[in-house]
Amino acid sequence: MRRRVSLGCMSLHVYGALFALLYGTAAAQQPAPLDALLQPEQQSLDALYKHLHANPELSYHEKETAARLADELTKAGFTVTTGVGGHGIVGVMKNGPGKTVLVRTDLDALPVTEKTNLPYASKIRTKDEQGNDVGVMHACGHDVHMTAFVGTARLLAKLKNQWGGTVVMIGQPAEERGGGAEAMLKDGLFRRFPRPDYCLALHTDPALQTGRIGYREGPVLASVDSVDVTIRGVGGHGAYPHLTKDPVMIAAQFVMALQTIVSREVRPIDTAVVTVGSIHGGTKHNIIPDQVDLQLTVRAYTEQTREQILTAIRRIAVGVARTAGVPADREPIVTNKTDEYTPATSNDPPLGQRLLPVWRKLLGEQNVILRDPEMGGEDFSRYGLVDPKIPIFMFRVGTIDPERMNAAQTTPLPSLHSALYWPTPHPTIETGVKAMTAAVMELLGK
Ligand SMILES: [Zn+2]
Ligand SMILES: [Zn+2]
Repeated sequence: MRRRVSLGCMSLHVYGALFALLYGTAAAQQPAPLDALLQPEQQSLDALYKHLHANPELSYHEKETAARLADELTKAGFTVTTGVGGHGIVGVMKNGPGKTVLVRTDLDALPVTEKTNLPYASKIRTKDEQGNDVGVMHACGHDVHMTAFVGTARLLAKLKNQWGGTVVMIGQPAEERGGGAEAMLKDGLFRRFPRPDYCLALHTDPALQTGRIGYREGPVLASVDSVDVTIRGVGGHGAYPHLTKDPVMIAAQFVMALQTIVSREVRPIDTAVVTVGSIHGGTKHNIIPDQVDLQLTVRAYTEQTREQILTAIRRIAVGVARTAGVPADREPIVTNKTDEYTPATSNDPPLGQRLLPVWRKLLGEQNVILRDPEMGGEDFSRYGLVDPKIPIFMFRVGTIDPERMNAAQTTPLPSLHSALYWPTPHPTIETGVKAMTAAVMELLGK
């Protein structure tokens, strides 16, 4: 990391001499065991990362991505099954008696047109579900996850004489749509393949420095519900509103009234979000339309709060329409899209207590950072919520080099899903590989 700070040639020599003096030349030249194993892989992992970044595929379309990862796992010595829950892949490495650890990466990218100007930026365009022409980008860092995943698979294969048990490595489709984990579970992930004792995953962090990882025990990410609402009215001429029931006005009142759910109905110390992400109605200035369509995202940390919000949305929609005098047969239609529901994610505290000392030793105390819980969502949660439950842990990997971290004090960093977000590939990938490999070794090591 120090090498990334721009120092003059002279200062570098002075710095190197000081380092040798303080820590001894042997210590400076002797890499840690995982670094030595990883070093020969770095070039091909860099090429893999840039290939994946330049060739992203949307959720439910991860065909080539899955094929490439299946090939990489096979080459690393795993027994691979493809087509699990759609484009999902499962690689199994059995290594005698012991526990089973699952390592998950997601495969999918987003309908975002990349604006990073990187030499390996994605130029891919495709059609989305509505037939719109869209750019495709790994704007959530899933390409980093996949590259670190392949690196982990290779290192675990090299370390085979130092661990016992089974490693199950899965490439999961459609994380961004909230449906991939459920599809893999329904397709027999825990029946057809060894059932894990622990599940691990990592995610890029767009506000954490490279070389660092972030963690939190207990609740880390919110539940996600996607709700469609159709406010129906009675359309007509814009100049004769008294002959209509205007759904645009009702929808406006509905959007404002929704904001009282979190501020007035949910217990103030419970965390929740209700966002209207899309609202569409009408065709022309002087026509009052028959309906307005809205798309909402709802975030919560507990099932109780979640249910409370979903019930309130329905009640407010109907209430606002009735207040406006909409006829009973034109009441709003409220649909919770259960196929896109994601439960809240909670990291298992005892598992965290096992892994944290390992990471602190590996990366240094100052590079293992406690992070705040967030209102984002992850269907990785589903692997833990089976019966009986399985301890899961997702940690974050820092992706912003020190220079950009410094600059961020004046210019804010782009968030995940931004067309401008880009992880500094190195040492982000190396940190991910080492942290994940060390975690698996802690759980399966001899
Ligand atoms: Zn995402
Ligand atoms: Zn993501």
